[in-house]
Amino acid sequence: MRVLITGGAGFIGSHLAEELHKRNHFINIVDNLSTGRLENIEHLIHSPRFSIAVESILNETVMDRLVSECDIIYHLAASVGVELIVNKPVEVIETNILGTEMVLKLANRYLKKVIITSTSEIYGKSDKTPFKENDDRVLGPTTKNRWSYSSSKAIDEFLALAYHKQRKLEVVITRLFNTVGPRQTGQYGMVLPRFVVQALKSQPLTVYGDGNQTRCFAHVNDVVDALITLAETSTAVGQIFNIGNDQPISILELAKKVKEMTSSNSEIKFVPYDIAYEEGFEDMAIRIPDLTKVKALIGYNPKYSIDQIIKSVIDYFLIEKLVY
Ligand code: UDP
Repeated sequence: MRVLITGGAGFIGSHLAEELHKRNHFINIVDNLSTGRLENIEHLIHSPRFSIAVESILNETVMDRLVSECDIIYHLAASVGVELIVNKPVEVIETNILGTEMVLKLANRYLKKVIITSTSEIYGKSDKTPFKENDDRVLGPTTKNRWSYSSSKAIDEFLALAYHKQRKLEVVITRLFNTVGPRQTGQYGMVLPRFVVQALKSQPLTVYGDGNQTRCFAHVNDVVDALITLAETSTAVGQIFNIGNDQPISILELAKKVKEMTSSNSEIKFVPYDIAYEEGFEDMAIRIPDLTKVKALIGYNPKYSIDQIIKSVIDYFLIEKLVY
């Protein structure tokens, strides 16, 4: 198959490209390298079954050609990360809404299947646990910037479902919960690479709030397997699936584990949310996916434990000697 991956030089996109390449597919990537990095895909660049267009997904001429030439599209290009959401709200909203609109419009023109990657942010600050795909969304006011990300991705989902309903376009929507692993950078706020780099550099581990908030972390390899299997499952079309891990860990506990596993002498420093992000920032206390649906359809069963996940990130930073 000829696979088009938007955002293919990013953290998740590059792992997806690598896995699909391993499975003998032809891979085309489109990425403007705003948060993606060429280093992420450098081992693929010389393959005859790989090519990259360093372009914005808003460039219709380029996208028209790429979509017309592919058999399936994995749409991962997006502005993500709490720091971008706080500091560059215009780019976040525009990239997410206009980018997805472009992908769906062209997919519809050439009748290509699209895998949309959405987010657990969709559920907003609902305190329900775990989140099921059809649960209500609970959002803050539009004056609180943070909710623009959730809303922009919700528009993406609405549009994808609308194309499916009205034009019979084949779409699968995946809501990714916290996904971590090698190549993720802490530059845009993601907690695990930040803690690992802080620990390796003997800097304080910055725990925001009181650290009692929990998250469920999934290894990127588990997430990529789920994306590919869902793409290959015809009955997934027109549906939404949570993907992630359902084992919660508090952020303070995560910091302690990272400190222990790196034998670091870093202190743990509590930083109030107002200082870490912006005044009035609202964080989710708990976020757990209900994975019943994806397990039932494709037998999804994440393999990586939290310790294996942390180790894979530590090994990456030790080997690559990277800092953010
Ligand atoms: N966090 C933290 N210290 C950091 C970065 C993040 O304590 O240096 C917290 C953040 O406030 C959130 C959790 O870690 O409660 C996960 O943050 P991340 O940005 O990785 O993902 P989110 O779940 O917020 O999308």
